[in-house]
Amino acid sequence: MALENLDDGDLTLPGISEGEIIVIRSARRKRNISAYRQGGRIIVSIPARMSKADEHAIVPEMIAKIRSQESARTPSEEVLLQRTDELLASLAPEITSRPASINWRPMRERWGSCTSVDRTIRISDRLKLAPDYALDYVLFHEAIHLQHFDHGPEFTEVLGRFEGAELASAYLDGYEAAERAMAEPVELKKLRTNRG
Ligand SMILES: [Zn+2]
Repeated sequence: MALENLDDGDLTLPGISEGEIIVIRSARRKRNISAYRQGGRIIVSIPARMSKADEHAIVPEMIAKIRSQESARTPSEEVLLQRTDELLASLAPEITSRPASINWRPMRERWGSCTSVDRTIRISDRLKLAPDYALDYVLFHEAIHLQHFDHGPEFTEVLGRFEGAELASAYLDGYEAAERAMAEPVELKKLRTNRG
């Protein structure tokens, strides 16, 4: 698992972040345009003959559509703060510190990070559609770092109070395994001609 108590200096671009969008030009597609989420990426498939101008008009539209569908199902940052407060209150009442902010971030290498100095927590947007137990597990993990900075015995003891830990770890490991498996499908390598 890649849960670290480090700020990875991740970049948050307001619109489309580089590397997150893959545009596939498919010779088999005559008209159809499709877009779907694959792990941390959005894949947009367009007809091979589509003009650059059309591509530049349509791709952002498709991405916006997917993002708005997802954001309707994504817990707000306010909800994340509230859930973290509840987790700490019920499982680790001795930790009285609370995060100043919790933000979704496009993090591919980590599930979350916590900067204890300013009490900020960042959660990978790969968890936006995750089951509650997996998201809560990561929130709890990062919130414990407000008090325990490393993964020492004290940290482990507190984290061990989370009941669904095994299930959550299995979900996160499975997600990472699936991401690795889907990382560079042969077909994508062959067809990919450009990136958004
Ligand atoms: Zn950690």
